[in-house]
Amino acid sequence: MVESSVPRLSSYVAGEWREGKGEEQTLVNPSSGEAVARCSTDGLDLGLALDFARNQAGPALRAMTFAARANVLAQIAEALAKRRERWYEIARINSGNTKADAAVDIDGSIGTLKYFAKLGAGLGNAKILVDAPASRLTRDPNFQAVHVGVPLRGVAVHINAYNFPAWGLWEKASVSLLSGVPVLTKPATATAWLAQEMVQCIAEAELLPKGSLSIICGSVQDLFHHLRMGDVICFTGSAATGQMIRNDPAVRSRGVRINVEADSLNATILGLDAEAGSQAFSSFVREVVQEMTVKAGQKCTAIRRIFVPVSQSHVVRDAIAAELQEIKVGDPANAEVRMGPLVNMPQRLTVAEGIARLRAECEVAYREDPLKIVDADVNRGAFVSPTLLYANRGNHSQLWNELEVFGPVATLIPYGDQGEAFSIAAQGGGSLVASVFSADPTFMTEAALALAASHGRVLLADPSIESSHTGHGIVLPSCLHGGPGRAGGGEELGGFRGLWFYHQRAVLQGSSAVLNKITEIAVNPPSAQS
Ligand code: NAP
Repeated sequence: MVESSVPRLSSYVAGEWREGKGEEQTLVNPSSGEAVARCSTDGLDLGLALDFARNQAGPALRAMTFAARANVLAQIAEALAKRRERWYEIARINSGNTKADAAVDIDGSIGTLKYFAKLGAGLGNAKILVDAPASRLTRDPNFQAVHVGVPLRGVAVHINAYNFPAWGLWEKASVSLLSGVPVLTKPATATAWLAQEMVQCIAEAELLPKGSLSIICGSVQDLFHHLRMGDVICFTGSAATGQMIRNDPAVRSRGVRINVEADSLNATILGLDAEAGSQAFSSFVREVVQEMTVKAGQKCTAIRRIFVPVSQSHVVRDAIAAELQEIKVGDPANAEVRMGPLVNMPQRLTVAEGIARLRAECEVAYREDPLKIVDADVNRGAFVSPTLLYANRGNHSQLWNELEVFGPVATLIPYGDQGEAFSIAAQGGGSLVASVFSADPTFMTEAALALAASHGRVLLADPSIESSHTGHGIVLPSCLHGGPGRAGGGEELGGFRGLWFYHQRAVLQGSSAVLNKITEIAVNPPSAQS
């Protein structure tokens, strides 16, 4: 039982703050293991929460134009930006984030809100979408059809992973609210504090119609049982949980729309042309080290598989290992620390088990053992060493194509020719992102065509964009986020494209006069320019 002095996180449902009863879950500081908050959803009336959102907030949001909803998003971004220091503090205490880690989550979330505020303002006074002008159906030019998108008349249930409590909340909520669909968000319990306090900040500012943004801190209880047509679930987390949600009888039988963002074995490829000393080579090494260590490797987009020409593999391995050696691991309260802990001790155990499985197949190219930790106790903090593994050629088990170790861990895989590199990279079962570092446009083109079918995003980093590209792991609101296969098969963001998930597409058939009247409140979003 956690001491009663540890603050309790309440949930915001049906426009009120409520506390669950019964058994509580504890949130900890992963650097020290100390309890920092507790929460429970036991006994909350989640059916009432959904009804309130559907019946009170839904109509109010749908009555607003895109521009009016966008204006609210802009105000939310402004309110959050004013309390940035507080969010950084919570991210350090509850997620073990360094300042750089917290920036990806917190500034990323504010940036995403601002992006959709601007995009929505451009949609003006429209309230519905249209995907093409009306077209004639028969010989009578007056009989026409138009495909429209109307906001769903339900609630968007957003279930997030522990690694991005702020960005996960706002990257989903900004698109849903702009579409006119109220949100019930469920952060992962381990790091729910940041999301809960952000929602509290916005609730107090009274920017949204009541019921537009609810939050539950703790488990989902019987939430799915109350879902129905018009509701959606947007899930981010492990493939196993995603599969469980897809198979939930209530979700399946009531046709609840679902988007899943799950595991991913993201790949990076060094081109055959990129020799030691070349720009592509140094960018590649820098990117790998950054991806392995930002947020202690707990990024869905982090590089897990590193493909390198066999002739360069030892040089690359040694260059990455030399940079990893410089990474100070410890409590991010110390400004010298470049990598904090994992989210908690159970996750440390899972990562240690994953490393042990990979080690049985690969050599260890870098790992600090014993690990030196700054300002923390190795027995109480969830720290692990950055770990680079090296797969020998001829290793046919390819566990690194199957096992996602969600920590500062990646495997270097030497390849012979480009066909081999592209075909092994495509065997990760479906991933969120692949990146390619080369100065050879032919290699880049062939890589793009080979990898796009198995990776939702492909970054083609040639030297001309060396200082302008945003990096392998950064998800931009204007670009699609999602991937096929084990990555969940989902699609989020992508500018205007993201709005369609929260709209029902329907075709209206009628006279041109009636259709023209209806489409006066419709907008055809310029997807191609988003
Ligand atoms: P997780 O254990 O699957 O949990 C994800 C979310 O699902 C949490 O909010 C969790 O709540 C909730 N959940 C757990 N069991 C549930 C159930 N039976 N019904 C409904 N919700 C349930 O994943 P995680 O450990 O937080 O995150 C790490 C994983 O997420 C990694 O595998 C990573 O690859 C993946 N990830 C993917 C992306 C992406 O965009 N593709 C982004 C980030 C992370 P509780 O916390 O209360 O259990």
